[in-house]
Amino acid sequence: MSERISMKTPLVEIDGDEMTRVLWALVKEKLILPFVDLKTEYYDLGLMNRDATDDKVTADSAHAILRYGVGVKCATITSNAARKTEYGLKALYPSPNATIRAILDGTVFRKPIILSNVQPTVSCWTKPIVIGRHAYGDIYKNAEMEIPGPGKVELVYTAPDGSEKRIVVMQMPGAGVVQGMHNLDSSIESFARASFLYALQEKIDIWFAAKDTISKTYDGRFKEIFNRIYESEFKGKCAAAGIKYFYTLIDDAVARVMKIEGGILWACKNYDGDVMSDMIASANGSLAMMTSVLVSPSGAFEYEAAHGTVQQHYYKWKKGEKTSTNPVALIFAWSGALSKRAELDGTSALAAFAARLEKATIDTIEEGEMTGDLARIAQPAPQKTLDSWEFIDAIARRL
Ligand code: NAP
Ligand code: MG
Repeated sequence: MSERISMKTPLVEIDGDEMTRVLWALVKEKLILPFVDLKTEYYDLGLMNRDATDDKVTADSAHAILRYGVGVKCATITSNAARKTEYGLKALYPSPNATIRAILDGTVFRKPIILSNVQPTVSCWTKPIVIGRHAYGDIYKNAEMEIPGPGKVELVYTAPDGSEKRIVVMQMPGAGVVQGMHNLDSSIESFARASFLYALQEKIDIWFAAKDTISKTYDGRFKEIFNRIYESEFKGKCAAAGIKYFYTLIDDAVARVMKIEGGILWACKNYDGDVMSDMIASANGSLAMMTSVLVSPSGAFEYEAAHGTVQQHYYKWKKGEKTSTNPVALIFAWSGALSKRAELDGTSALAAFAARLEKATIDTIEEGEMTGDLARIAQPAPQKTLDSWEFIDAIARRL
């Protein structure tokens, strides 16, 4: 390649673990470096380096995203007791994604990649259903307690002046469990803004659903804030773009979503988004066909794959086997990040490259060359299942 496409501002590149780390290097070598004079600021979030830096590298990488505006992240191991033994770790660390989300205070948008030769399980879904997941608070930052026997459980708020507000949660007749959780107006406002901005950028309708009939104060606050942000900041812009905002109860949304063609953003509270994004990914065929971007209210973006490190494939690869692990979500993390960088820097050649990379990837699969996860469900079934190396070479040939 005589002349490679240049970049103005570096991407924050966050490397990870296991099979996705292997594919990360391969995607860069075969699909990006031959075409782009890549500039990155590199952070190694491989588990050994997180351990060596007492996890400081994770927070550093998130702050770098805030500084530069765009990051791209590989999947990473969340350590547990088994990993501590496997890797001989000094300590257990929090989930890197949770650490990064807490620093960016973001909303995660997950969008399936639609293929003409893979039919979704829900036959009417011809366009992507994007899940917007509020990535702050609720049960993910809860306080829980086991209650050993009869007694009174209360919620108590103590103001800075020492005055108290309290209500009885339950006069417990016997042993049980109790949970307290919270959210912040400021975070819900960011969630609402990020969701409306995303829907406007993609020109799709936006749904928000909660259970405000039962949870009048908690879920009621979410509904009220979404409505206020819509009325005061986005109503005119949505009307101009021909986009509708629709609030409904969460159970009604679940029933309705099974009957639409797609092409919407479904903004979900944290838990709903966790659950629904896995449902949407699985209905579209493979975890590896789901893209994910974290959008922070300060205007920073982190692109990643929605799946994990594909641990079992990694053990096979270590034994010398060429696995058929699907790299599409990793490729789209790179194309998404390069495209956003190009938009912010006004570099049209880079934007065009990112679009070509996505098209080459989809064309490869639609023309019958794919990894095993898709080969099992594609119509017509391909002649041959490719391993990850053959599949990436097939994309590179088209590119
Ligand atoms: P996983 O890596 O998502 O893999 C679960 C299964 O899904 C795989 O065994 C594989 O099924 C299939 N799969 C996922 N991605 C695939 C791909 N690209 N191509 C083909 N098949 C794919 O989840 P996990 O095994 O439960 O977790 C492994 C590690 O990832 C854990 O340490 C966890 O902490 C971490 N994790 C990280 C992130 C993140 O950083 N974003 C997210 C989730 C989990 P088959 O075995 O049937 O082929
Ligand atoms: Mg989940």
